[in-house]
Amino acid sequence: MANSAASSNLIKSETGDWELVIGLEVHAQVTSKAKLFSGAATKFGAEPNSQVSLVDAAMPGMLPVINKECLAQAVRTGLGLKAQVNLRSVFDRKNYFYPDLPQGYQISQFSQPIVGEGEVVLNMEGGETVRIGIERLHLEQDAGKSLHDQDPKSSYVDLNRSGVALMEIVSNPDIRSARQAQAYVTKIRSILRYLGTCDGNMEEGSLRADVNVSMRRPGAELGTRTEIKNINSIRFIGQAIEYESRRQIEVLEGGGEITQETRLFDTKTGQTRPMRSKEEAHDYRYFPDPDLLPVELSREFVDRLAEDLPELPDQKTDRFMADWGLDSYDVELLVAEKERADYFEEMVGGGAAPKQAANWLLNQHLGRVNKEGVAFEDAPVTAAANISILKMVDEGTISGKIAKELYDLVWETGDDPAKLVEERGLRQVTDTVAIEKVVDEIIAANPKQAGQVKAKPQTLGWFVGQVMQKTSGKANPQAVNAILREKLEIAED
Ligand code: ADP
Ligand code: MG
Repeated sequence: MANSAASSNLIKSETGDWELVIGLEVHAQVTSKAKLFSGAATKFGAEPNSQVSLVDAAMPGMLPVINKECLAQAVRTGLGLKAQVNLRSVFDRKNYFYPDLPQGYQISQFSQPIVGEGEVVLNMEGGETVRIGIERLHLEQDAGKSLHDQDPKSSYVDLNRSGVALMEIVSNPDIRSARQAQAYVTKIRSILRYLGTCDGNMEEGSLRADVNVSMRRPGAELGTRTEIKNINSIRFIGQAIEYESRRQIEVLEGGGEITQETRLFDTKTGQTRPMRSKEEAHDYRYFPDPDLLPVELSREFVDRLAEDLPELPDQKTDRFMADWGLDSYDVELLVAEKERADYFEEMVGGGAAPKQAANWLLNQHLGRVNKEGVAFEDAPVTAAANISILKMVDEGTISGKIAKELYDLVWETGDDPAKLVEERGLRQVTDTVAIEKVVDEIIAANPKQAGQVKAKPQTLGWFVGQVMQKTSGKANPQAVNAILREKLEIAED
């Protein structure tokens, strides 16, 4: 269901249902060697003020010169967002004062952005598909950074970031829950990383979001919104929305009104608080930058970029679903990172069954990767090792339970899984004589339970557990079940 108030997203209250409405402005730093209008470097983490040209420092008389690579990156991104690319766009001055904005204005695009309407598709858990409209994407300069923690009496300014190219991607107010907002930012990040147009590093601030939130009764006009500025983690986006929607409902139900304003999210308290009342576009006195000509792109330039686009997450999703009949939400997770999708394809290409491989990769492998906090590509268990583990399960050489232990052993030792199975005696016992012996011992040691099991067949599981424990998980579960039923005289169910 697209863009509708799926009833599961409504917030119930004693006074009736509320619908949450969210629109996001994502700021993404363009991956480029040089800044938007100068040749200064853009590398993160350099010595303060070591990457500042005279243009970035706004020395009088300096002229901005557009970096064509940044234009190409914005066009690629527009194409990746299935958006209209505008062959003519205009740079404007957005005037305001800030200590880390030496020009006294930001060069941005206002009425004629480089990219117009597009769309982002979200495959949510449970199979729901949500389409979020993109209103526009425009290019603008980033500001410098004020440093307030270097000296007790003074603040410093680092202009390394001043003039770095940013893409601002503005969504329509189509988002209806905190989870959708998180999925939306995750998807945008994923698309940009596939395209190579932004590294998506949220901790370093390369990707951050302003979150606009309002509440309304289902079907009513849009309510007044607040804008929560500059959130740089997916988790905080969720927390900020949860808090802000509860706050607004409380105000509205108390008979109050929401004031349109800019708010800050405090990561320590998990609350939002007012920063300033909302400025309007006319407060910025936008006007076309007289130092820059309008940007004119040729159709061929755009077409060439379109031809060179890599396979993107949605195309991969379609292919994975068509080829292997996987669940849309699982595929969304598999393709979210290119390395992860490649790893999965390597597993399937190496003979792993797609459904099992998807499960194993998303639960076992990613579970451990996340728990250890290592980068995906640094995980010591290779796709080949996982193929081998799944193959041994499939052939009945090891049980599913042992497979997980084996995985951990491979992680810790880096050894070959098949070799570990032999060395550590992890083979599944399918030898019925050996299993029968253990079963006999357990029945003999537990006469009371054995007497009751006929009346309460559901307690059979307890016996299975005992046998598994005694064989360190190596007995074949089907064989154990069959032998127990036979000995305890319980019919097959
Ligand atoms: P501004 O430039 O002042 O920030 P825009 O009209 O460009 O305002 O909107 C910014 C963002 O706010 C967009 O993502 C838009 O979808 C979202 N938005 C607009 N109205 C609402 C609303 N009533 N509730 C939630 N989000 C909204
Ligand atoms: Mg805004």
